[in-house]
Amino acid sequence: MTDTAITDAHNEDAHSANADHEGHEAEVIPDDEHPMEAHTEVHTRAASPALVGEGYVAGIDLGGTKVLAAIFAPDGTIVSRSKVLTGSVGGLDVIDRMAAAVREAAGVAGLSLSQITAVGTGVPGPVNPDTGIVHVTPNIPGWDLMPLRDELSSRLGIPVAVDNDVRVAVIAEHGAGAGQGARNMVAIWPGTGVGGAIIINGQIYTGADSYAGEIGHITVKVGGAPCGCGGRGHLEAYCSRTAIVKRLHMLVRTGHKTRLTRIVGKNILKAKSSDIAEAASLGDPLVLAVLERTARYLAVGIASVANLLNPELVVLGGGVVEALGAPYIDLITAFVRNQPFAATTGPLRIVQSALGDDAGVIGAAILARQIHNRHTGEEAA
Ligand SMILES: [Zn+2]
Repeated sequence: MTDTAITDAHNEDAHSANADHEGHEAEVIPDDEHPMEAHTEVHTRAASPALVGEGYVAGIDLGGTKVLAAIFAPDGTIVSRSKVLTGSVGGLDVIDRMAAAVREAAGVAGLSLSQITAVGTGVPGPVNPDTGIVHVTPNIPGWDLMPLRDELSSRLGIPVAVDNDVRVAVIAEHGAGAGQGARNMVAIWPGTGVGGAIIINGQIYTGADSYAGEIGHITVKVGGAPCGCGGRGHLEAYCSRTAIVKRLHMLVRTGHKTRLTRIVGKNILKAKSSDIAEAASLGDPLVLAVLERTARYLAVGIASVANLLNPELVVLGGGVVEALGAPYIDLITAFVRNQPFAATTGPLRIVQSALGDDAGVIGAAILARQIHNRHTGEEAA
C-alpha cells in the first residue's frame, strides 16, 4: 500500500507513530480502486478521562488521500482501526468511504453499528461545527458547502460531530495529550499551511463564524511574502513547510549549496518535513539559517497571540514541528523569550504536541463523546 501523496499537515508522516501499537491485521481487501485495511489492537497506554464514556464511539481522521477510523471502548482505549484510501474520488463518494471505514473498524472489533453511540470526524478545511457544513476543502473535490454531518449520519444511523482537522488535533492534545489540564492554550500547527486553535477557559474558542484560531493568517510583516490566501506577510508565508521549501528552492537557484539536494535531488520543492529535519540534523548551514528565520517569525506570531490572550501554554504540532522536534521548540522558545512584554516571558510554556498521528482519531472521538454527553444531559434535564 502506498502513501506517496499525503499532503495534509498532520498526516504527513503517516505510520511513524504506530510502532507502539500491538495488534494484528485482520483483513485486507485487495482492490486497487478501494483498498482497505483494518486491525484490532490492545492498548496499554492509560486513556484520558475525555475519552471515557458510555458505549463505544468512532473517531475518523479524514485526510486528502485516506480515511483513518478507530473505535474507542467505554474505558477510552482504542479497540480497532481501519484505513480506506480515498484515491481520486470526491463528493459523496468520500462520505461513502468514511462510512465504510467506520463499518469496517466496528466489524473488526466484533461490534454492530448499533453499539456505536456517536461518531466524530476532522475535516481538512474550514467547517462550521454547529451546522456540520464544510465551507470548502482544497484537497477533496466537490465538497463546497457539503452538509457532511447530516450525510454521514444518515449513512450510519449514528449522531455525527465534525470540526476542522487542526482544531480536532488540538482538542486531542488538550483532552489527552500535551495540553491536558490547561485552562488557556494556543496551538500552532505548521504543515502545508499553518493551522491553529484557541482554548479559553477549558473550551475551544470558535468565534463568530467558526474561523477563530487562523493564526497562519495574522500579519507578521507588512507588505511581506505572498500568502496562499491572497494576503501578504502572513505567518503562513514564512513558517509553513511550503514556505520553508520555497525559500530553500529560491536560495539554491541563486547559487547557495545545501545537502538537501543530495537527499531529495535537484527539485527542492519536493522536500518533506523529514528531509528538512535530516539536513538540519547533519548541520546543513543553509537549512539551519532558513529554520532560524522561520523560528523568528513564529516567535513574533506567538508573542502577538500571547499578548492578546495570555495563555499558560502554547502547543506546537504538525509535520514540520514533529520532524524537527526539541531543538526547533528550544529555538522558537528562545526567540519568544526575547520579545519585550510580560505575557511572553513569565509562566508561558511552549511545548511540542504529544499524540503524533493519533491526534486526528483521538480528537474526533472526544468530539463524539461530547455529543453523547450533551444528549444524555438534555435527557436528564
Ligand atoms: Zn494568509
